[in-house]
Amino acid sequence: MKALDELTFDNRFARLGDAFSTHVLPEPIDHPRLVVASPAAMALLDLDPEAAESPVFAELFGGHKLWAEAEPRAMVYSGHQFGSYNPQLGDGRGLLLGEVYNAAGEHWDLHLKGAGQTPYSRMGDGRAVLRSSIREFLASEALHALGIPTTRALCVIGSDTPVWREKQERAAMLLRMSPSHIRFGHFEYFYYTKRPEQQKQLGEHVLAMHFPECLEQPEPYLAMFREVVERNAELIAKWQAYGFCHGVMNTDNMSILGVTFDFGPFAFLDDFDAHFICNHSDDQGRYSFSNQVPIGQWNLSALAQALTPFISVEALRETLGLFLPLFQAHYLDLMRRRLGLTSAEDEDQKLVERLLQLMQGSGVDYSLFFRRLGDEPAELAVARLRDDFVDRQGFDAWADLYKARVAREQDNTQEQRRARMHAVNPLYILRNYLAQKAIDAAEQGDYSEVRRLHAVLSKPFEQQAGMDSYAERPPEWGKHLEISCSS
Ligand code: AMP
Ligand code: MG
Repeated sequence: MKALDELTFDNRFARLGDAFSTHVLPEPIDHPRLVVASPAAMALLDLDPEAAESPVFAELFGGHKLWAEAEPRAMVYSGHQFGSYNPQLGDGRGLLLGEVYNAAGEHWDLHLKGAGQTPYSRMGDGRAVLRSSIREFLASEALHALGIPTTRALCVIGSDTPVWREKQERAAMLLRMSPSHIRFGHFEYFYYTKRPEQQKQLGEHVLAMHFPECLEQPEPYLAMFREVVERNAELIAKWQAYGFCHGVMNTDNMSILGVTFDFGPFAFLDDFDAHFICNHSDDQGRYSFSNQVPIGQWNLSALAQALTPFISVEALRETLGLFLPLFQAHYLDLMRRRLGLTSAEDEDQKLVERLLQLMQGSGVDYSLFFRRLGDEPAELAVARLRDDFVDRQGFDAWADLYKARVAREQDNTQEQRRARMHAVNPLYILRNYLAQKAIDAAEQGDYSEVRRLHAVLSKPFEQQAGMDSYAERPPEWGKHLEISCSS
Protein backbone atom coordinates (compact mmCIF):
# COMPACT_ATOMS: atom_id res chain seq x y z
CA MET A 1 0.00 0.00 0.00
CA LYS A 2 1.17 3.47 -0.86
CA ALA A 3 0.44 6.88 0.59
CA LEU A 4 -0.78 9.60 -1.76
CA ASP A 5 2.64 11.24 -1.98
CA GLU A 6 4.28 7.94 -2.91
CA LEU A 7 2.71 7.52 -6.36
CA THR A 8 5.27 6.92 -9.09
CA PHE A 9 4.81 8.81 -12.35
CA ASP A 10 6.02 8.02 -15.84
CA ASN A 11 4.40 10.53 -18.19
CA ARG A 12 4.81 8.82 -21.52
CA PHE A 13 2.16 10.77 -23.42
CA ALA A 14 3.45 14.13 -22.15
CA ARG A 15 6.85 13.23 -23.58
CA LEU A 16 5.39 13.13 -27.10
CA GLY A 17 5.59 16.91 -26.89
CA ASP A 18 3.66 20.04 -27.67
CA ALA A 19 2.19 18.86 -30.97
CA PHE A 20 0.08 16.40 -28.97
CA SER A 21 -0.86 18.30 -25.84
CA THR A 22 -0.44 21.61 -24.05
CA HIS A 23 0.76 22.22 -20.52
CA VAL A 24 -2.12 23.67 -18.43
CA LEU A 25 -2.44 23.84 -14.65
CA PRO A 26 -5.73 22.83 -13.00
CA GLU A 27 -7.88 25.70 -11.74
CA PRO A 28 -8.90 24.76 -8.19
CA ILE A 29 -12.53 24.57 -7.07
CA ASP A 30 -13.65 26.22 -3.79
CA HIS A 31 -13.84 24.17 -0.60
CA PRO A 32 -13.08 20.82 -2.20
CA ARG A 33 -14.60 17.84 -0.42
CA LEU A 34 -14.88 14.14 -1.04
CA VAL A 35 -18.23 13.11 -2.48
CA VAL A 36 -17.35 9.49 -3.20
CA ALA A 37 -14.27 7.38 -3.88
CA SER A 38 -13.88 3.91 -5.33
CA PRO A 39 -11.77 1.60 -3.17
CA ALA A 40 -11.42 -0.76 -6.16
CA ALA A 41 -10.01 2.04 -8.34
CA MET A 42 -7.74 3.17 -5.53
CA ALA A 43 -6.37 -0.37 -5.34
CA LEU A 44 -5.25 -0.05 -8.97
CA LEU A 45 -2.88 2.69 -7.80
CA ASP A 46 -1.90 0.63 -4.72
CA LEU A 47 -3.57 3.30 -2.56
CA ASP A 48 -4.97 2.50 0.85
CA PRO A 49 -8.76 3.22 0.71
CA GLU A 50 -8.40 5.22 3.95
CA ALA A 51 -6.39 7.79 2.01
CA ALA A 52 -9.62 9.09 0.45
CA GLU A 53 -10.66 10.54 3.80
CA SER A 54 -7.58 12.71 4.22
CA PRO A 55 -7.93 16.43 3.35
CA VAL A 56 -5.01 16.21 0.95
CA PHE A 57 -6.98 13.76 -1.21
CA ALA A 58 -9.70 16.36 -1.87
CA GLU A 59 -7.02 19.01 -2.41
CA LEU A 60 -5.17 16.90 -4.98
CA PHE A 61 -8.27 15.93 -6.93
CA GLY A 62 -9.91 19.33 -6.47
CA GLY A 63 -7.01 21.01 -8.28
CA HIS A 64 -5.36 22.66 -5.26
CA LYS A 65 -2.24 20.54 -5.04
CA LEU A 66 -0.15 18.66 -7.53
CA TRP A 67 2.56 16.05 -7.26
CA ALA A 68 5.98 17.37 -8.26
CA GLU A 69 6.21 14.62 -10.90
CA ALA A 70 2.79 15.31 -12.46
CA GLU A 71 2.77 17.08 -15.83
CA PRO A 72 -0.79 18.25 -16.46
CA ARG A 73 -1.57 18.45 -20.18
CA ALA A 74 -4.64 19.12 -22.31
CA MET A 75 -4.66 16.70 -25.26
CA VAL A 76 -5.58 17.77 -28.78
CA TYR A 77 -7.93 15.67 -30.92
CA SER A 78 -10.83 16.08 -33.32
CA GLY A 79 -13.64 13.78 -34.32
CA HIS A 80 -16.96 13.13 -35.99
CA GLN A 81 -19.86 14.43 -33.94
CA PHE A 82 -23.29 13.19 -35.03
CA GLY A 83 -21.78 12.22 -38.35
CA SER A 84 -20.08 15.56 -39.15
CA TYR A 85 -16.40 16.18 -38.84
CA ASN A 86 -15.43 18.73 -36.18
CA PRO A 87 -11.78 19.73 -36.64
CA GLN A 88 -11.59 21.61 -33.34
CA LEU A 89 -11.94 19.45 -30.26
CA GLY A 90 -9.47 18.48 -27.56
CA ASP A 91 -9.56 18.43 -23.76
CA GLY A 92 -11.72 21.48 -23.12
CA ARG A 93 -12.20 20.79 -19.46
CA GLY A 94 -10.08 17.81 -18.56
CA LEU A 95 -6.37 17.41 -17.99
CA LEU A 96 -4.14 14.40 -18.17
CA LEU A 97 -2.30 14.92 -14.88
CA GLY A 98 0.18 12.19 -15.59
CA GLU A 99 0.65 8.43 -15.82
CA VAL A 100 1.10 6.46 -12.62
CA TYR A 101 2.53 2.99 -12.66
CA ASN A 102 1.58 0.50 -10.01
CA ALA A 103 3.34 -2.40 -8.32
CA ALA A 104 1.98 -4.78 -10.98
CA GLY A 105 3.75 -2.65 -13.62
CA GLU A 106 0.53 -1.24 -15.12
CA HIS A 107 0.31 2.39 -16.22
CA TRP A 108 -2.81 4.36 -15.36
CA ASP A 109 -3.60 7.79 -16.78
CA LEU A 110 -4.89 10.16 -14.13
CA HIS A 111 -7.30 12.46 -15.93
CA LEU A 112 -8.96 15.25 -13.99
CA LYS A 113 -12.30 16.17 -15.57
CA GLY A 114 -13.66 19.63 -14.77
CA ALA A 115 -10.19 21.08 -14.15
CA GLY A 116 -10.83 24.47 -15.78
CA GLN A 117 -10.29 26.10 -19.15
CA THR A 118 -7.71 25.00 -21.68
CA PRO A 119 -6.80 26.14 -25.21
CA TYR A 120 -9.52 23.69 -26.39
CA SER A 121 -12.37 25.06 -24.26
CA ARG A 122 -13.91 27.07 -27.12
CA MET A 123 -16.94 28.78 -25.48
CA GLY A 124 -16.98 26.42 -22.49
CA ASP A 125 -16.15 27.24 -18.89
CA GLY A 126 -13.89 24.23 -18.42
CA ARG A 127 -16.05 22.91 -15.61
CA ALA A 128 -18.11 19.80 -14.91
CA VAL A 129 -21.18 19.89 -12.68
CA LEU A 130 -21.69 17.64 -9.66
CA ARG A 131 -24.61 15.85 -11.34
CA SER A 132 -22.69 14.68 -14.41
CA SER A 133 -19.58 13.84 -12.39
CA ILE A 134 -21.61 11.56 -10.13
CA ARG A 135 -23.25 9.94 -13.14
CA GLU A 136 -19.89 9.21 -14.77
CA PHE A 137 -18.47 7.92 -11.49
CA LEU A 138 -21.37 5.54 -10.86
CA ALA A 139 -21.54 4.35 -14.46
CA SER A 140 -17.87 3.58 -14.84
CA GLU A 141 -17.65 1.63 -11.63
CA ALA A 142 -20.98 -0.14 -12.27
CA LEU A 143 -20.00 -1.17 -15.81
CA HIS A 144 -16.72 -2.49 -14.52
CA ALA A 145 -18.52 -4.59 -11.91
CA LEU A 146 -20.70 -6.04 -14.68
CA GLY A 147 -17.58 -7.07 -16.58
CA ILE A 148 -17.99 -4.42 -19.30
CA PRO A 149 -14.71 -2.74 -20.31
CA THR A 150 -14.68 0.90 -19.28
CA THR A 151 -12.57 3.77 -18.05
CA ARG A 152 -12.51 3.80 -14.24
CA ALA A 153 -13.34 6.52 -11.74
CA LEU A 154 -11.25 7.15 -8.66
CA CYS A 155 -13.37 9.82 -7.01
CA VAL A 156 -15.67 12.80 -7.28
CA ILE A 157 -14.72 15.99 -5.46
CA GLY A 158 -17.51 18.48 -4.80
CA SER A 159 -17.17 22.23 -4.23
CA ASP A 160 -18.88 25.56 -3.67
CA THR A 161 -17.80 26.94 -7.04
CA PRO A 162 -20.91 28.05 -8.92
CA VAL A 163 -21.35 27.09 -12.56
CA TRP A 164 -24.16 28.06 -14.88
CA ARG A 165 -25.97 25.44 -16.96
CA GLU A 166 -29.78 25.60 -17.42
CA LYS A 167 -29.68 26.80 -13.84
CA GLN A 168 -26.93 27.56 -11.38
CA GLU A 169 -25.16 24.43 -10.20
CA ARG A 170 -21.94 23.53 -8.39
CA ALA A 171 -18.67 22.51 -9.98
CA ALA A 172 -17.11 19.14 -9.25
CA MET A 173 -14.10 17.23 -10.47
CA LEU A 174 -13.95 13.58 -11.45
CA LEU A 175 -10.69 11.69 -11.47
CA ARG A 176 -10.85 9.28 -14.38
CA MET A 177 -8.40 6.44 -14.92
CA SER A 178 -7.58 4.46 -18.01
CA PRO A 179 -4.44 2.89 -19.45
CA SER A 180 -4.86 5.46 -22.23
CA HIS A 181 -7.01 8.49 -23.09
CA ILE A 182 -6.25 8.21 -26.81
CA ARG A 183 -9.41 8.35 -28.89
CA PHE A 184 -10.26 7.56 -32.52
CA GLY A 185 -10.31 11.37 -32.81
CA HIS A 186 -6.59 11.61 -32.06
CA PHE A 187 -5.82 9.72 -35.26
CA GLU A 188 -8.38 11.74 -37.18
CA TYR A 189 -6.80 15.01 -36.00
CA PHE A 190 -3.37 14.27 -37.45
CA TYR A 191 -4.85 12.74 -40.59
CA TYR A 192 -7.10 15.68 -41.44
CA THR A 193 -4.51 18.31 -40.51
CA LYS A 194 -2.12 16.45 -42.84
CA ARG A 195 0.70 15.87 -40.41
CA PRO A 196 2.03 12.45 -41.40
CA GLU A 197 5.12 12.70 -39.20
CA GLN A 198 3.11 13.29 -36.06
CA GLN A 199 0.50 10.76 -37.04
CA LYS A 200 3.29 8.20 -37.31
CA GLN A 201 4.65 9.25 -33.94
CA LEU A 202 1.18 8.78 -32.45
CA GLY A 203 0.76 5.40 -34.13
CA GLU A 204 4.15 4.19 -32.92
CA HIS A 205 3.36 5.37 -29.42
CA VAL A 206 0.02 3.54 -29.37
CA LEU A 207 1.59 0.37 -30.77
CA ALA A 208 4.49 0.35 -28.32
CA MET A 209 2.49 1.31 -25.22
CA HIS A 210 -0.84 -0.40 -25.79
CA PHE A 211 -0.53 -3.04 -28.53
CA PRO A 212 3.04 -4.36 -28.17
CA GLU A 213 2.00 -7.81 -29.40
CA CYS A 214 1.04 -6.24 -32.76
CA LEU A 215 4.65 -5.18 -33.27
CA GLU A 216 5.49 -8.86 -33.75
CA GLN A 217 3.10 -9.07 -36.70
CA PRO A 218 4.19 -8.51 -40.33
CA GLU A 219 1.87 -5.48 -40.55
CA PRO A 220 1.71 -3.94 -37.06
CA TYR A 221 -0.79 -1.21 -37.94
CA LEU A 222 -3.14 -3.67 -39.57
CA ALA A 223 -2.84 -6.00 -36.57
CA MET A 224 -3.64 -3.07 -34.29
CA PHE A 225 -6.67 -2.05 -36.33
CA ARG A 226 -7.89 -5.63 -36.25
CA GLU A 227 -7.52 -5.67 -32.49
CA VAL A 228 -9.47 -2.40 -32.19
CA VAL A 229 -12.24 -3.88 -34.38
CA GLU A 230 -12.34 -7.03 -32.23
CA ARG A 231 -12.42 -5.12 -28.97
CA ASN A 232 -15.20 -2.84 -30.17
CA ALA A 233 -17.26 -5.78 -31.42
CA GLU A 234 -16.98 -7.36 -27.99
CA LEU A 235 -17.64 -4.10 -26.14
CA ILE A 236 -20.76 -3.26 -28.10
CA ALA A 237 -22.00 -6.86 -27.78
CA LYS A 238 -21.81 -6.36 -24.01
CA TRP A 239 -23.65 -3.04 -24.17
CA GLN A 240 -26.43 -4.66 -26.21
CA ALA A 241 -26.63 -7.76 -24.04
CA TYR A 242 -26.84 -5.71 -20.84
CA GLY A 243 -29.04 -2.89 -22.12
CA PHE A 244 -26.49 -0.09 -21.91
CA CYS A 245 -27.10 2.93 -24.11
CA HIS A 246 -24.06 5.23 -24.42
CA GLY A 247 -25.88 8.16 -25.96
CA VAL A 248 -23.03 10.09 -27.65
CA MET A 249 -21.01 7.70 -29.79
CA ASN A 250 -19.02 10.44 -31.50
CA THR A 251 -15.58 9.33 -32.63
CA ASP A 252 -13.97 11.61 -30.05
CA ASN A 253 -15.76 9.55 -27.41
CA MET A 254 -14.39 6.24 -28.71
CA SER A 255 -11.33 4.89 -26.93
CA ILE A 256 -8.57 3.28 -28.97
CA LEU A 257 -8.54 0.60 -26.25
CA GLY A 258 -12.16 -0.43 -26.89
CA VAL A 259 -13.45 0.58 -23.48
CA THR A 260 -16.60 2.56 -22.67
CA PHE A 261 -15.50 6.19 -22.66
CA ASP A 262 -16.88 9.69 -21.96
CA PHE A 263 -20.21 9.25 -20.27
CA GLY A 264 -22.92 11.77 -21.07
CA PRO A 265 -26.66 11.15 -21.08
CA PHE A 266 -26.14 7.35 -20.97
CA ALA A 267 -28.82 5.01 -19.61
CA PHE A 268 -29.42 1.38 -18.84
CA LEU A 269 -32.73 0.20 -20.28
CA ASP A 270 -35.51 -0.19 -17.74
CA ASP A 271 -38.30 -1.55 -19.98
CA PHE A 272 -36.87 -3.19 -23.07
CA ASP A 273 -37.05 -0.87 -26.06
CA ALA A 274 -34.82 -1.46 -29.07
CA HIS A 275 -35.49 2.09 -30.28
CA PHE A 276 -34.69 3.79 -26.99
CA ILE A 277 -32.90 7.16 -27.31
CA CYS A 278 -31.30 8.27 -24.06
CA ASN A 279 -29.90 11.54 -25.43
CA HIS A 280 -32.67 14.11 -25.72
CA SER A 281 -30.73 16.22 -28.20
CA ASP A 282 -30.40 13.21 -30.53
CA ASP A 283 -33.48 14.09 -32.60
CA GLN A 284 -32.75 11.59 -35.36
CA GLY A 285 -32.03 8.71 -33.00
CA ARG A 286 -28.57 8.30 -34.50
CA TYR A 287 -27.38 6.86 -31.18
CA SER A 288 -30.51 4.91 -30.26
CA PHE A 289 -30.01 1.60 -28.48
CA SER A 290 -30.20 -0.65 -31.55
CA ASN A 291 -28.20 1.79 -33.69
CA GLN A 292 -25.17 1.34 -31.48
CA VAL A 293 -24.17 -1.65 -33.57
CA PRO A 294 -24.11 0.02 -37.02
CA ILE A 295 -22.70 3.19 -35.45
CA GLY A 296 -19.90 1.16 -33.88
CA GLN A 297 -19.01 0.02 -37.38
CA TRP A 298 -19.38 3.55 -38.78
CA ASN A 299 -16.96 4.85 -36.15
CA LEU A 300 -14.47 2.14 -36.99
CA SER A 301 -14.70 3.13 -40.64
CA ALA A 302 -13.91 6.74 -39.63
CA LEU A 303 -10.85 5.43 -37.83
CA ALA A 304 -9.98 3.29 -40.85
CA GLN A 305 -10.03 6.40 -43.05
CA ALA A 306 -7.54 8.05 -40.70
CA LEU A 307 -5.31 4.97 -40.91
CA THR A 308 -5.11 4.93 -44.72
CA PRO A 309 -1.55 6.32 -44.63
CA PHE A 310 -0.47 3.12 -42.84
CA ILE A 311 -2.71 0.38 -44.22
CA SER A 312 -4.05 -0.46 -47.67
CA VAL A 313 -7.70 0.32 -48.29
CA GLU A 314 -8.40 -3.33 -49.20
CA ALA A 315 -6.95 -4.60 -45.93
CA LEU A 316 -8.87 -1.99 -43.95
CA ARG A 317 -12.10 -2.90 -45.72
CA GLU A 318 -11.59 -6.60 -45.15
CA THR A 319 -10.85 -6.04 -41.45
CA LEU A 320 -13.86 -3.79 -41.01
CA GLY A 321 -15.91 -6.62 -42.45
CA LEU A 322 -15.06 -8.67 -39.37
CA PHE A 323 -16.96 -6.33 -37.07
CA LEU A 324 -20.50 -7.56 -37.62
CA PRO A 325 -19.83 -11.30 -37.50
CA LEU A 326 -17.66 -10.83 -34.40
CA PHE A 327 -20.33 -8.71 -32.77
CA GLN A 328 -22.98 -11.30 -33.55
CA ALA A 329 -20.93 -14.18 -32.17
CA HIS A 330 -20.18 -12.35 -28.90
CA TYR A 331 -23.73 -11.12 -28.53
CA LEU A 332 -25.27 -14.52 -29.08
CA ASP A 333 -22.83 -16.08 -26.65
CA LEU A 334 -23.76 -13.54 -23.96
CA MET A 335 -27.48 -13.89 -24.57
CA ARG A 336 -27.24 -17.67 -24.40
CA ARG A 337 -25.59 -17.30 -21.04
CA ARG A 338 -28.22 -14.86 -19.89
CA LEU A 339 -30.81 -17.49 -20.79
CA GLY A 340 -28.90 -20.13 -18.84
CA LEU A 341 -27.75 -22.06 -21.91
CA THR A 342 -24.28 -23.53 -21.95
CA SER A 343 -24.37 -25.26 -25.33
CA ALA A 344 -24.99 -23.76 -28.75
CA GLU A 345 -27.81 -24.74 -31.11
CA ASP A 346 -28.66 -23.33 -34.52
CA GLU A 347 -32.02 -22.00 -33.46
CA ASP A 348 -30.68 -20.01 -30.49
CA GLN A 349 -30.46 -16.76 -32.39
CA LYS A 350 -34.14 -17.00 -33.29
CA LEU A 351 -34.97 -17.77 -29.66
CA VAL A 352 -33.27 -14.55 -28.58
CA GLU A 353 -34.74 -12.44 -31.38
CA ARG A 354 -38.25 -13.69 -30.71
CA LEU A 355 -37.94 -12.96 -27.00
CA LEU A 356 -36.87 -9.37 -27.69
CA GLN A 357 -39.72 -8.92 -30.17
CA LEU A 358 -42.15 -10.03 -27.48
CA MET A 359 -40.57 -7.70 -24.94
CA GLN A 360 -40.75 -4.73 -27.31
CA GLY A 361 -43.72 -2.57 -26.39
CA SER A 362 -44.74 -4.86 -23.52
CA GLY A 363 -43.12 -2.84 -20.77
CA VAL A 364 -41.03 -5.79 -19.61
CA ASP A 365 -38.14 -4.83 -17.35
CA TYR A 366 -35.09 -5.95 -19.32
CA SER A 367 -32.72 -6.73 -16.44
CA LEU A 368 -35.20 -8.25 -14.03
CA PHE A 369 -36.62 -10.56 -16.68
CA PHE A 370 -33.35 -12.50 -16.91
CA ARG A 371 -32.76 -12.44 -13.16
CA ARG A 372 -36.26 -13.82 -12.46
CA LEU A 373 -35.86 -16.43 -15.21
CA GLY A 374 -33.06 -17.99 -13.18
CA ASP A 375 -34.77 -17.76 -9.80
CA GLU A 376 -36.90 -20.83 -10.35
CA PRO A 377 -37.01 -23.90 -12.59
CA ALA A 378 -37.74 -22.83 -16.17
CA GLU A 379 -41.32 -24.14 -16.06
CA LEU A 380 -42.25 -22.10 -13.00
CA ALA A 381 -40.26 -19.03 -14.01
CA VAL A 382 -41.92 -18.62 -17.41
CA ALA A 383 -45.35 -19.17 -15.88
CA ARG A 384 -44.70 -16.30 -13.48
CA LEU A 385 -43.14 -13.97 -16.07
CA ARG A 386 -45.94 -14.53 -18.58
CA ASP A 387 -48.15 -11.83 -17.05
CA ASP A 388 -45.64 -9.14 -18.00
CA PHE A 389 -46.19 -9.70 -21.70
CA VAL A 390 -48.89 -8.13 -23.82
CA ASP A 391 -48.88 -10.99 -26.32
CA ARG A 392 -49.40 -13.90 -23.94
CA GLN A 393 -50.01 -16.48 -26.63
CA GLY A 394 -46.84 -15.37 -28.33
CA PHE A 395 -45.02 -15.67 -25.06
CA ASP A 396 -46.45 -19.15 -24.41
CA ALA A 397 -45.14 -20.31 -27.77
CA TRP A 398 -41.71 -18.87 -26.92
CA ALA A 399 -41.82 -20.42 -23.45
CA ASP A 400 -42.50 -23.88 -24.94
CA LEU A 401 -39.42 -23.58 -27.14
CA TYR A 402 -37.38 -22.30 -24.24
CA LYS A 403 -38.41 -25.09 -21.86
CA ALA A 404 -37.59 -27.69 -24.49
CA ARG A 405 -34.26 -26.00 -25.08
CA VAL A 406 -33.43 -25.92 -21.35
CA ALA A 407 -34.31 -29.61 -21.09
CA ARG A 408 -31.54 -30.38 -23.57
CA GLU A 409 -28.89 -28.76 -21.34
CA GLN A 410 -26.36 -30.82 -19.36
CA ASP A 411 -25.85 -29.28 -15.89
CA ASN A 412 -29.47 -28.92 -15.28
CA THR A 413 -30.32 -29.14 -11.64
CA GLN A 414 -32.10 -25.94 -10.62
CA GLU A 415 -29.24 -25.16 -8.27
CA GLN A 416 -26.70 -25.28 -11.08
CA ARG A 417 -28.97 -23.33 -13.36
CA ARG A 418 -29.65 -20.60 -10.83
CA ALA A 419 -25.98 -20.26 -9.90
CA ARG A 420 -24.83 -19.87 -13.48
CA MET A 421 -27.69 -17.54 -14.44
CA HIS A 422 -27.35 -15.32 -11.37
CA ALA A 423 -23.62 -15.03 -12.06
CA VAL A 424 -24.36 -13.29 -15.37
CA ASN A 425 -27.74 -11.63 -14.70
CA PRO A 426 -27.38 -8.66 -12.37
CA LEU A 427 -29.92 -7.95 -9.67
CA TYR A 428 -28.80 -4.33 -9.35
CA ILE A 429 -28.48 -1.98 -12.32
CA LEU A 430 -27.66 1.72 -12.43
CA ARG A 431 -31.15 2.89 -13.25
CA ASN A 432 -31.53 6.56 -14.11
CA TYR A 433 -33.93 7.15 -11.27
CA LEU A 434 -31.56 5.61 -8.70
CA ALA A 435 -28.76 7.88 -9.93
CA GLN A 436 -31.15 10.84 -9.81
CA LYS A 437 -32.15 10.18 -6.19
CA ALA A 438 -28.49 10.01 -5.19
CA ILE A 439 -27.76 13.22 -7.13
CA ASP A 440 -30.67 15.10 -5.54
CA ALA A 441 -29.35 14.24 -2.07
CA ALA A 442 -25.75 15.08 -3.02
CA GLU A 443 -26.84 18.48 -4.35
CA GLN A 444 -28.19 19.11 -0.84
CA GLY A 445 -24.82 18.12 0.65
CA ASP A 446 -25.77 14.56 1.64
CA TYR A 447 -23.38 12.10 -0.03
CA SER A 448 -24.55 8.98 1.80
CA GLU A 449 -26.88 7.84 -0.99
CA VAL A 450 -24.21 8.13 -3.72
CA ARG A 451 -21.89 6.07 -1.58
CA ARG A 452 -24.53 3.45 -0.80
CA LEU A 453 -25.57 3.14 -4.44
CA HIS A 454 -21.94 2.82 -5.50
CA ALA A 455 -21.43 0.05 -2.93
CA VAL A 456 -24.55 -1.85 -4.05
CA LEU A 457 -23.57 -1.60 -7.72
CA SER A 458 -20.07 -2.83 -7.06
CA LYS A 459 -21.56 -6.31 -6.44
CA PRO A 460 -24.40 -6.36 -8.94
CA PHE A 461 -24.83 -10.13 -9.05
CA GLU A 462 -24.99 -10.74 -5.29
CA GLN A 463 -28.17 -10.28 -3.35
CA GLN A 464 -27.35 -7.83 -0.55
CA ALA A 465 -29.18 -7.71 2.78
CA GLY A 466 -31.45 -4.69 3.21
CA MET A 467 -30.97 -3.54 -0.40
CA ASP A 468 -34.17 -4.91 -1.95
CA SER A 469 -35.39 -1.46 -2.93
CA TYR A 470 -32.41 -1.10 -5.30
CA ALA A 471 -33.54 -4.18 -7.20
CA GLU A 472 -37.08 -3.01 -7.84
CA ARG A 473 -38.61 -1.83 -11.07
CA PRO A 474 -38.55 1.95 -11.35
CA PRO A 475 -41.62 3.92 -10.32
CA GLU A 476 -43.55 5.43 -13.24
CA TRP A 477 -41.91 8.88 -12.74
CA GLY A 478 -38.51 7.22 -12.81
CA LYS A 479 -38.97 5.80 -16.31
CA HIS A 480 -39.37 9.12 -18.05
CA LEU A 481 -36.62 11.27 -16.58
CA GLU A 482 -35.15 13.78 -18.99
CA ILE A 483 -31.43 13.66 -18.39
CA SER A 484 -29.87 16.98 -19.25
CA CYS A 485 -27.18 16.75 -21.90
CA SER A 486 -25.34 19.76 -20.49
CA SER A 487 -22.70 18.51 -18.17
P1 AMP B 1 -18.31 15.85 -24.59
O1 AMP B 1 -19.66 16.12 -25.15
O2 AMP B 1 -18.25 15.90 -23.09
O3 AMP B 1 -17.69 14.62 -25.13
O4 AMP B 1 -17.40 17.08 -25.04
C1 AMP B 1 -17.19 17.45 -26.39
C2 AMP B 1 -16.12 18.52 -26.44
O5 AMP B 1 -16.56 19.69 -25.74
C3 AMP B 1 -14.79 18.14 -25.81
O6 AMP B 1 -13.78 18.77 -26.57
C4 AMP B 1 -14.90 18.73 -24.43
O7 AMP B 1 -13.66 18.97 -23.86
C5 AMP B 1 -15.66 20.01 -24.70
N1 AMP B 1 -16.42 20.47 -23.53
C6 AMP B 1 -17.54 19.93 -23.02
N2 AMP B 1 -17.98 20.64 -21.95
C7 AMP B 1 -17.11 21.67 -21.79
C8 AMP B 1 -17.02 22.76 -20.88
N3 AMP B 1 -17.90 22.93 -19.89
N4 AMP B 1 -15.98 23.60 -21.03
C9 AMP B 1 -15.09 23.44 -22.00
N5 AMP B 1 -15.13 22.46 -22.90
C10 AMP B 1 -16.13 21.57 -22.80
MG1 MG C 1 -16.11 13.71 -25.13
